[in-house]
Amino acid sequence: MARDFALDFYNGRAWRMTAQDYARRKHFVCERCGAPAPVGFRRDKDRRDGATPRGGIVHHRVHLTPENIGDDRIAYGQDNLELLCWACHNREHRESGAISEGLTFDANGDVVRT
Ligand SMILES: [Zn+2]
Ligand SMILES: [Zn+2]
Repeated sequence: MARDFALDFYNGRAWRMTAQDYARRKHFVCERCGAPAPVGFRRDKDRRDGATPRGGIVHHRVHLTPENIGDDRIAYGQDNLELLCWACHNREHRESGAISEGLTFDANGDVVRT
């Protein structure tokens, strides 16, 4: 199904490693508003640390599509990534939080179907 094209990608090990590494470089801080944007932590740990319960999201400046998801410069390139907090990411995607057709992030930062 076309709308599920990104699910395997986001749940894949390669993406998780890339996103975590990128977020670490940005010191787990939202690039737009400076809010905490933890990526790669489990929610229970975040809570213990007093961090925001909602994880940060590594956003693709050029949104992923079935056509460009195979392009590593788009999918994994640092130039196309941006670390956002939950609020900024929702704003970026017109309040819906959807990262592509039919997909969104849950509170753990895992990609799920809407
Ligand atoms: Zn933000
Ligand atoms: Zn996004």
